[in-house]
Amino acid sequence: MNVLVVNCGSSSLKFQLINSETEAVAAKGLCERIGIDGRLVYQPAGGEKEVTEAAMPTHTEAIKLVLDALVNPKTGVLKSLDEVEAIGHRVLHGGAKISDSCIINDEVISVIEECCDLGPLHNPANLMGIRACMELMPGKPNVAVFDTAFHQTMPEKAYMYAIPYKYYDKYKIRKYGFHGTSHRFVSKETIKFLGLDPDNSKVIVAHLGNGSSISAVVNGKCVDTSMGLTPLEGLVMGTRSGDLDPAVLEYICNKENISVSEMVRILNKESGLLGLSKGLSSDFRDLNEAMNNGNPDAKRAIDCLCYRIIKYIGSYVAAMNGVDAIAFTGGIGENAALVRKTVVDNLSYLGITLDEEANNARGEDRVISTPDSKVTVAVIPTNEELAICQETAALVKNQK
Ligand code: ADP
Repeated sequence: MNVLVVNCGSSSLKFQLINSETEAVAAKGLCERIGIDGRLVYQPAGGEKEVTEAAMPTHTEAIKLVLDALVNPKTGVLKSLDEVEAIGHRVLHGGAKISDSCIINDEVISVIEECCDLGPLHNPANLMGIRACMELMPGKPNVAVFDTAFHQTMPEKAYMYAIPYKYYDKYKIRKYGFHGTSHRFVSKETIKFLGLDPDNSKVIVAHLGNGSSISAVVNGKCVDTSMGLTPLEGLVMGTRSGDLDPAVLEYICNKENISVSEMVRILNKESGLLGLSKGLSSDFRDLNEAMNNGNPDAKRAIDCLCYRIIKYIGSYVAAMNGVDAIAFTGGIGENAALVRKTVVDNLSYLGITLDEEANNARGEDRVISTPDSKVTVAVIPTNEELAICQETAALVKNQK
């Protein structure tokens, strides 16, 4: 089944056309600067990247340009749009009402609308992408794959914040968690790859990218995760602070005479690796290079990043009363041998030992702990687009 996977941000749209059976990507690309001016980057499999400047006042024009590119007689990969059998949309927030991917209907659209408060940057953009596809490809099934869905199995004790209960009653303030598509995909893949018993397994997934989160997964179900009501909680990220004492907000707001919204923007956009490195970079590669050249600001940022991961893994081992496997994924998790080594060396109390050679090697799914390690540590590359494609195809086939 040919599935168009669409991931809309506030001013961008990423897409991939994937065959769910062969897993082959026929074409991929992105629209940038939607609502500003507009640029389409389009790449057919095995072909050159094409960049086209074109007006995109809204996501509808952006999707229209993507569809035109897919059927373009020269560089397109489809004869007609009829060959697109379904569209899979990444949707940020499904709140507490949605615990799985679903075929989009009026009810699902109202839940996504209701959750705009919780995901103010993403949910409105996701809706625009959905509406544009419905308008331009009428009658095709659209599926919503939610970032929050996988985490809906968390028990109350894990998702509740210890604040007056009325805020949960009134506003549903609680931990939701994000990156769920990746955590679901990687935890499943880890169980399969390591031959663990799906009904008797404890797995920790560390998704480390620009945005990062860790989850604890028992028997394939998420029991805890590091992101919260929004993606700001948890680990030290590229530009997000992760956990901090909430009183820090009031203190800085008063001292600097800035609003709470401005402070939250700073915590989202100017903190994390970028803030800790005194503005040097939010990108791990830049910091790693600077640290190797003796830059203390880069070293501080990387030290804090690793330390927070170590603490979260320790707390999830405690929460699950044990762990069978730890999987690293995401741009940093898959590529940064130094981060994996720093973290795993600090887990020797669990009887874990690192296979240095395997850790320094590149490649697909692989084990990086030694054969006698008490817990298996693996690198499992994530593929959120493929996961969205597979979930979309499965739902659409079931419906037929
Ligand atoms: P996003 O959350 O935006 O999807 P990614 O998962 O692509 O982000 O991760 C981006 C991060 O991965 C950046 O900090 C980048 O420096 C890091 N990264 C990517 N490739 C490498 C590499 N080869 N070695 C070390 N770090 C890498």
